[in-house]
Amino acid sequence: MTRSSELWDRAKAAIPGGVDSPVRAFRNVGRDPIFVAKGAGGTIIDVDGKSYVDLCLSWGALPLGHAHPEIVEAVRRAAGDGMTYGAATEREVELAETIKRAVPSIDKVRLVSSGTEATMSAVRLARGFAGRTHILKFAGGYHGHVDSLLVAAGSAVATGSVPASAGVTAGTAAEVLVAPFNDLERTREVARRAGKDLAAIIAEPIAGNMGLVQPDPGFLPGLRALCDELGALLILDEVITGFRLRWGAIQDEFGVKPDLTTLGKIIGGGLPIGAFGGRADVMARLAPEGNVFQAGTLSGNPVATAAGLAGLRILERDRPYERMAATAARIADGFVAAAKEAGLPCATPHRGSMFTPFLGVEATPHNIDDAKKTDAAKYGALFRAMAERGVYLPPATLEVGFTCAAHTDADVDRVLGAVRESFRAL
Ligand SMILES: *Cc1c(COP(=O)(O)O)cnc(C)c1O
Repeated sequence: MTRSSELWDRAKAAIPGGVDSPVRAFRNVGRDPIFVAKGAGGTIIDVDGKSYVDLCLSWGALPLGHAHPEIVEAVRRAAGDGMTYGAATEREVELAETIKRAVPSIDKVRLVSSGTEATMSAVRLARGFAGRTHILKFAGGYHGHVDSLLVAAGSAVATGSVPASAGVTAGTAAEVLVAPFNDLERTREVARRAGKDLAAIIAEPIAGNMGLVQPDPGFLPGLRALCDELGALLILDEVITGFRLRWGAIQDEFGVKPDLTTLGKIIGGGLPIGAFGGRADVMARLAPEGNVFQAGTLSGNPVATAAGLAGLRILERDRPYERMAATAARIADGFVAAAKEAGLPCATPHRGSMFTPFLGVEATPHNIDDAKKTDAAKYGALFRAMAERGVYLPPATLEVGFTCAAHTDADVDRVLGAVRESFRAL
């Protein structure tokens, strides 16, 4: 019996489904989970001592890879001064200033402890500010497990690891409108029908939870114009894209200025953090200035802000974005070439450090319906074959693969070799 299988038995007896987040159960890829013991650079090692090139990187949270020495040192030093005070600290101010400096649409920003908390708070704030009820989201868009944002959600909700959630009331769902990503006509129809009830449109500028799906030219500017027409707020959810694709937010590359932006994953340097920020007049509606309540015992946690600041400092100094993008491009090309040799269609879009092999799909997906045509059983087989050869892909379809600055040429060679062999074995 391996240490992993022993832990899996214990986990199933003590934790629902054996995991603290559904996708970790590996159901979508048809095998038992990997239990991770340690990470270093672009690699993780499981509890049985097997190493993997990590192309999931805690769902994108680690652009610098695992255990970057400068982040580890910052955490060590912060921890020595106490884990939490539930009171104001200097590092919160520094992190807020750093985010403000990097994201021009953010006048003010509040720190929370997860991406879910960031989107939940942004939606409440938008509703409170606008005095309206309805939210429009996109099918396959994932914004954390906020009740209202679980309607037609992507990520593990879409891959059937969990149903589109019992426990979300019909009343909540009725206040959430859904449109297809990249379909501006349909979005306009749905939004205009809601009219003065529409508080906000929330979108991932580049979708990362239906696999990687990029916005068509004009889609994001079209959402901005639509919000202006209807007096609704535009919330861009950059929990994945913020500070991963460039220094700052990807919104600037599309020339779109949202009213609110949500951040997470990357800005914590690997510790739990989220943030939401935007227009000064909107943010001023938050308590204690305004009447929209939002709070958190561990918000702006001193250890998390130390890790986040250390990570952002390195990203700003080293700007490893081109290198990460080149790595992702090489890997994506490897998938395409190996699939072609195997006679399998496999559209593999990539952008910056993000990529998704859509197995069984010929044309690059533009929305969740396109993305869902991917062959989940084949992806499961590919995941298992790659894991056997020491490469850890995201353990589900409709997710994004990630590269980091710590991936070495040897790591990439190992990935490309595993891709070629795995496609032959499929
Ligand atoms: C991961 C993610 C979230 C939720 O963040 P958590 O920290 O998991 O709560 C929200 N939005 C997007 C776009 C995400 O990818």
